[in-house]
Order: sequence, then C-alpha cells, then structure tokens
Amino acid sequence: MKITAIDACVLTVPTSKQMALEFPHHKLVVAEIATDEGIRGLGYSLMFGGGGAESVLVYLETRLKPLLIGEDPLAVERLWEKMYRGDRGVRRVGIAGMAISALDIGLWDIAGKAAKLPLYKLWGAVTDRVACYGSGGWSKYSDKDLLAEAERYAGMGCGYYKMKIHDPDPLANRKRVEMVKKALGPGVRMMVDVNQKLDVISNQRQAAVLEDLDLVWYEEPVIADDIAACAEVAKSIKIPVATGENNYTRYEFRDLIERKAARYLMPDVCRANGFSETLKIAHLAAAHGIAVSPHVVYEISIQISGAISNGFLVELMDWMPPDLFEVLPECKDGHIRIPDRPGHGMVLHKNAVSKYRSAGG
Ligand SMILES: [Mg+2]
Repeated sequence: MKITAIDACVLTVPTSKQMALEFPHHKLVVAEIATDEGIRGLGYSLMFGGGGAESVLVYLETRLKPLLIGEDPLAVERLWEKMYRGDRGVRRVGIAGMAISALDIGLWDIAGKAAKLPLYKLWGAVTDRVACYGSGGWSKYSDKDLLAEAERYAGMGCGYYKMKIHDPDPLANRKRVEMVKKALGPGVRMMVDVNQKLDVISNQRQAAVLEDLDLVWYEEPVIADDIAACAEVAKSIKIPVATGENNYTRYEFRDLIERKAARYLMPDVCRANGFSETLKIAHLAAAHGIAVSPHVVYEISIQISGAISNGFLVELMDWMPPDLFEVLPECKDGHIRIPDRPGHGMVLHKNAVSKYRSAGG
C-alpha cells in the first residue's frame, strides 16, 4: 500500500454555550491521508482555543507531507521516526509535535482499517468501555452555570467532576469547590485544575486549604516547562498531583516520572506526537505504577485507554457541535463504549469541512 495524497486544512469550530465564555471556538488541523488501495485515514490535532493552528498546518504541509507521500502507511513506526527526525534543528514539541500527531493518528486509522480492527483491539485490548469524568468548571462561569454543568455530567452517571481553580484568592476557590461538592453529594468525587497559573508557594497555600475535601487530584500546578517546580509541589502537598497535557514526548514524561512530579499522567494524543508516542508514554508509566488519564479528545483517546492496563479515566468535555463528526461516542452510566468500527472510528460529518473550513486554511 502507498500513500498517494494528504489533504490538510484548518477547521474553526464554535464551542458549546458555557465554554464559549472562555473559548468561543477551537480549531482542528485535519489531515486526510489517501492510499492507492482506497483506504483513507483521518488524522487531526485539536488546537484548544485555536492558537497556532495555521502554523501547525504550514509545518505539516511543507515539512512532513513530503516525507510521507509514496510511503507504505502501515510502516507507522518507521514513518513516525522519519517525521520525528526530519528537522534536526526543530524540537518536535508544540507546533511540530501537533503536526506529527495529526499524521500519526491518520496513519494508525489506515492501519486499523487495513486490519479491519478498532485500534484498541489492534493494540491488545483490556476493555471496550472506559470510565470518564465530566470536565469544565471554567472560571468565567457564574455559580449557577458551574452547578448546572456539574449536575449535567452527574446526570450522565459520571462519578467524577473536574473544575478550574483560577481565582487569585485560595479561599474563594475553596468556597466554589465546596459549593459544587455539596451539590453533587458523596456519589461524585472531584478534581481541581490550576492550568499552570501558580508558583510553588502559591500552590502550597492553595492546596493546604483544599486538603480536607477528598480531591482525587490537583492538576497542572505550575508552568509545564518547569518539571522541577512540579516535583516540588508534588512532594509538599497532600493531594496527588496530575499533569502532562502540555508535555510532549517520552523524554519529558520520563523526567516527570523520575522526578516523581505526578501520580497521574495526562498525555494528549494531539500534542504528544500522536498515538504512537502516547502508547510509549503509557507503557513507561505502567513500569512505575502510575495511572494514565488522557487529556481531552476523548473520542479518540478512548482507543489508548482501552489498550492499557494502567488507564484511569478519560476526560469528557462535550464541547462539540453535532455536525462535526458523523457519530460521537456517548457517555452512558459514566462510561464511554469504544466504537467497534475499524481504525479510531471517527468520521467527519459530510458537511464539516465545507461548513467549518477556515478562510485561507
Ligand atoms: Mg487541565
């Protein structure tokens, strides 16, 4: 089999109502990979909030696409290495990592379709159903919006809910978390997300006033570049730390693990150089008894979670309009069933490209 063409573009997709207060849209860099045997693979990277999508598209088009045309798409590992090592002076993180991610996801989609298997089965399945948590709780929500969202996820059977703690006053955050916890009752456990906004001392102060609330994890305490600071926080607070959505390769995750910077790792398949690298990260975490809870894009992350024994929860953030994908995996009783369709199982809605394609993208 040979790759004959790659059609790539940027889709600008509006978010659902409450999230739009913080992010009016997200962008997807989509790459559709065509082969001479008629099998097509869909790859994409989600740019949360849209930042950098145009640059990712240019890097993909000008530097990566020429490396793949004419190649056998089933040699995924070889092609991953070819893309990863293509530019010696460019680190495959951020823009370049997101471009490789989109193509790696598309190559695996072809591999699954050629094998007539969903990817989690191709990789050796542990389960066809993964537990998820409701995620949101953005800082611009009113208390009413926050409670409505938390209760909506609880109504889907989610046993976990995660909210942001972005107020500069630690006690104001405590009050909001307590309010949600009280409304949800003992059947739902909670997590909080700092989104890299604090330094070490501020995290210690913040975590100290949340300690008695039985939180599952305390997420992304410091800027993701500073693994040493994350390790210092993890060592000095009583709530387990989760991080990794803005770390990109097996090497960064190895550092997080070796420095004991987190008890939960959260690679994002669209940022961490695709399914190939995320599987390696997950297996590395398994060797250290660390759980993996992939960051957003749950509709494709579930393939990873279904194939690893140290998977914990997937992040359900249901921001997508119904006409982006043909079928979106649904949450029932707090779980998402992994689609049994070959590949990753996601197909763009027939009108998605014409409707959401950015001008000039
Ligand atoms: Mg987060």
